Amino acid sequence: MPIVALSTETTDWVSRFADEVIEESERRAPGKPVVVASGLSPSGPIHLGNLREVMTPHLVADEIRRRGYEVRHLISWDDYDRYRKVPAGVAGVDASWSEHIGKPLTSVPAPAGSSYPNWAEHFKAAMIESLGELGVEFDGISQTAQYTSGVYREQILHAMRHRGEIDAVLAQYRTKPKAQGKKPQQKAVDEAEIEAVEGSGAASEDDGSSGAAGYFPYKPYCGNCEKDLTTVTSYDDNTTELTYACTACGFSETVRLNEFNRGKLVWKVDWPMRWAYEGVIFEPSGVDHSSPGSSFQVGGQIVGIFGGKQPIGPMYAFVGISGMAKMSSSRGGVPTPADALKIMEPQLLRWLYARRRPNQSFKIAFDQEIQRLYDEWDKLDAKVADGSALPADVAAHSRAVRTAAGELPRTPRPMPYRTLASVADITAGHEDQALRILSELDPDKPLGSLDEVRPRYGRAEAWINTHVPADQRTIVREEPDVELLKSLDEASQRSIRLLLDGLADHWSLDGLTHLVYGVPKVQAGFPADATPKELPPEIKTAQRSFFALLYHLLVGRDTGPRLPTLLLAVGQERVRALLGE
Ligand SMILES: [Zn+2]
Repeated sequence: MPIVALSTETTDWVSRFADEVIEESERRAPGKPVVVASGLSPSGPIHLGNLREVMTPHLVADEIRRRGYEVRHLISWDDYDRYRKVPAGVAGVDASWSEHIGKPLTSVPAPAGSSYPNWAEHFKAAMIESLGELGVEFDGISQTAQYTSGVYREQILHAMRHRGEIDAVLAQYRTKPKAQGKKPQQKAVDEAEIEAVEGSGAASEDDGSSGAAGYFPYKPYCGNCEKDLTTVTSYDDNTTELTYACTACGFSETVRLNEFNRGKLVWKVDWPMRWAYEGVIFEPSGVDHSSPGSSFQVGGQIVGIFGGKQPIGPMYAFVGISGMAKMSSSRGGVPTPADALKIMEPQLLRWLYARRRPNQSFKIAFDQEIQRLYDEWDKLDAKVADGSALPADVAAHSRAVRTAAGELPRTPRPMPYRTLASVADITAGHEDQALRILSELDPDKPLGSLDEVRPRYGRAEAWINTHVPADQRTIVREEPDVELLKSLDEASQRSIRLLLDGLADHWSLDGLTHLVYGVPKVQAGFPADATPKELPPEIKTAQRSFFALLYHLLVGRDTGPRLPTLLLAVGQERVRALLGE
């Protein structure tokens, strides 16, 4: 299928940003590829909330590519940032890692058992894998590689020459109360979300500091202990001779900055330097970066020193997670994009980002809500197929299922997620049984193999196994509940008789749906296919008690998976036995 731009009109937020970014790029850098950027700090597992930092420019870049332009989406790996703290709950890491605090993330050992050479590489790898699965095309730039190979040498010397100007900009904010902007917004969010926004160099210490020798926007990593607890004690603009002392180990040395590659510009200077260096036209940022005195705003005042301009930078709102709290506290970790991709297909995750404007917050569901979300997605998919979807919904759908490079792999037969989850729940890993049940759902089109419902089936199975608490799992009774069967009144006995008599002729998802809703109607003297309008309201009550009775007899609880699915899953013979035949 040929990939074309959705339309030249502004159908959704992505199109509108694409219009603006193309126009701005043509003004600033005519004939050059459009540059958009994201920054990620591999300081630990990269939180699912941080995915918005990548998805927002990705969607815009993808729309621009669909229109035939060349785009570079830079992902700046802030792996030359200092190691700030030992994150809790990471396998293979203990308190001894605290001895590395202050070193660049690429100089910290990877968690025990990792195949990666250092801390940053270990956590980058997981993110890169998820981005690949999501169809995100990007140019990764390691800031360690950039700084330690001297790529930014001229920019560093330039910043040192203009340290007075930089200091003057930063000074405007130093006098203001520290808490403004950032803190009030954080009060409302949970711990995990705070973790997410603090990902990329947001700490307030990151504007450099003034010692006796004045202000310097540059910090060397110590030549002895590798930590950044250094103070520049003198600098000569002409010779570029710089002397620093380390407060951690007492080491001191004099280097020539025009040939020295073991240090970096402080965050609030580093970011605008890179906007100018790369010619970034679009780079969104989280709310913490966008408040007064924050790095995005200050960067806008500093970027001119480097001869560049501030990118178009919308603020994006928090992405929350529902249903992960219980799980994360037991596992100690934070949810990552890989965790989400274990339980949902990339299309669904892309859709969540595409359908909401960046300033709208939303939640990614790890709880029961995921089933409703999938129902909504399937409904949209059907509407798009029959041409009845609204333009903005068509746009979000298109951004979810394909990129400029092509379609993302799809599940050939996307059966409802909740059905797949129920089947996985009931069959507990018995694939032959799952295949039999799924084939009986629609006997006219039986399933040849489970591969037809994969990868969706695998995601639903993973969700059941990892996110549904044990007390909500379905366990089919081994033996009939003789006591309950004996205690049934005549009406209940008759309803079960009606069900048993109809089983053989209704053994499909549609057939059984008709049957279980029909039994209480027939019992009350109405035809099985009577519509709700033709029925008294009491029928609803009768249906509810009939369903509760069936759940008790089949699974020993008063609720469970949808009854038609449950009946198919249990199998006709066992249903008959459990219902006392
Ligand atoms: Zn040192």
